[in-house]
Amino acid sequence: MLCPHCHKSLPLDITDPRFCVWCGKPLSQICPYDEGTSDRRVSLCSDSNQSSITCTDGHLFKFCPKCKRLHTLEDITCRTEKCAHEPLLEFGVSFPTNYGLFDGTRAICWPYSLTQTLLLKQTQDIAAISHLVFRYGILIACTAKQLLTARWLDGKWKFNDPVSFNNSGPSVRSLIVNEGYAFVLSDTECIPIRLDNLKAYPAVTGRFFQQSSGGRQWAGLADDGTGQAVLHLNDCCTWQLKPIDLTVKANLVDTMLMGERILVATRDEHNPLLMVDPDSGEVKNWGAEEKDYRWNRLAMTRNRVLALGYNNDSRRNMLMRFTPAGDRDGFHWLPDHCVQDFVCGQKSVYLISEDGLHVVSWTQFSLQNEPMHLLGGQDPRPGMLLLYDSKGTERLLIRRTANKKHHLYLLNPDGGHQIPVTVTSHLPLVCLANGTLVVAAQDINGWSLRTFIFAEG
Ligand SMILES: [Zn+2]
Ligand SMILES: [Zn+2]
Ligand SMILES: [Zn+2]
Repeated sequence: MLCPHCHKSLPLDITDPRFCVWCGKPLSQICPYDEGTSDRRVSLCSDSNQSSITCTDGHLFKFCPKCKRLHTLEDITCRTEKCAHEPLLEFGVSFPTNYGLFDGTRAICWPYSLTQTLLLKQTQDIAAISHLVFRYGILIACTAKQLLTARWLDGKWKFNDPVSFNNSGPSVRSLIVNEGYAFVLSDTECIPIRLDNLKAYPAVTGRFFQQSSGGRQWAGLADDGTGQAVLHLNDCCTWQLKPIDLTVKANLVDTMLMGERILVATRDEHNPLLMVDPDSGEVKNWGAEEKDYRWNRLAMTRNRVLALGYNNDSRRNMLMRFTPAGDRDGFHWLPDHCVQDFVCGQKSVYLISEDGLHVVSWTQFSLQNEPMHLLGGQDPRPGMLLLYDSKGTERLLIRRTANKKHHLYLLNPDGGHQIPVTVTSHLPLVCLANGTLVVAAQDINGWSLRTFIFAEG
């Protein structure tokens, strides 16, 4: 056991210590959900490689980086007086959607050094899953009818009893996690499942095709039944649903991005990009100058919106950068046969085509040099991720195909060095969880979770 303040090892012979023998700071507190009703204490200590803490009731916490006090997920700033409203953090690196964060950047800050070697730590069998995410120290996966949750304990994923849900469709469309809930979206409803007590809440019904979340809001895009697109907004705290009519046809809506505002990209000639204010429900035409585009991907980074699109006139792919007001701030044509996907690095945007890896510099917003050659053939589906550590090292996690197999590579975009991670016979699901890389792979023997760690080697 380590002290959360001075990180020194605590003597094992003291049971339930209140204060650190080295620095004198508190080692436990009353669970923030139980304040005033119970005096049961939660330990703030952790094992060296276990960064998630939970009380015996399974409550989910945020913590103050200054005083280490635990808070409820609803809290935003620290309530300790001397901390002066310090913003709270979550335990572990958040990976709340199949593609990482909600901002669309597909870039994940890695809490350890990326210059270490990636090693296979553990393989375990799992049921057939369609989605894999990680948040609050919990690995969360979806089968067609069940939500699976697990914590990393004693060198493997320890699963809770699965939560069954009534999914009327053949599969789950999407799984995202926010505000302590897993949101399971099918064609006819969204089922919120609380992650502390693993209880399913009443479903929000609608003909959904996309969902996202940000702050305390959940957003689902649906067909209103007459072919018109409607945006369902739900406040995760008060459970108040707000339907917003988008005044475009549902089958013309391509993609949605949720930040402080919600951006919806459509193929409607008059409303190519819509900006929705989640508080007022106001819908505005945004980036209205840009017509005749089909927007396939949106991302929000460094106060800019990036959009990957296809121009119907010239029949070419392009990358466009917008200011928050919706004005064009950068533009670049892309090579043909580009995968409809990109990741945002710290200085560059990366894209893949048949010719290899393309780098668009952020400052000049121009394509740099020749594309970097990549091993194997192109995997046309999106799914590239970027990891970066505190020293500025970047690694791209990319899928390639060779001999009818899917190869997962780590690529150093500076030197071009490619390190094979794993090979699967079907398209793998990839998730970053508590300093591990988890790959859900399907093979002739069924599905398995392969957990990798970065280590000296
Ligand atoms: Zn201490
Ligand atoms: Zn508790
Ligand atoms: Zn504090």
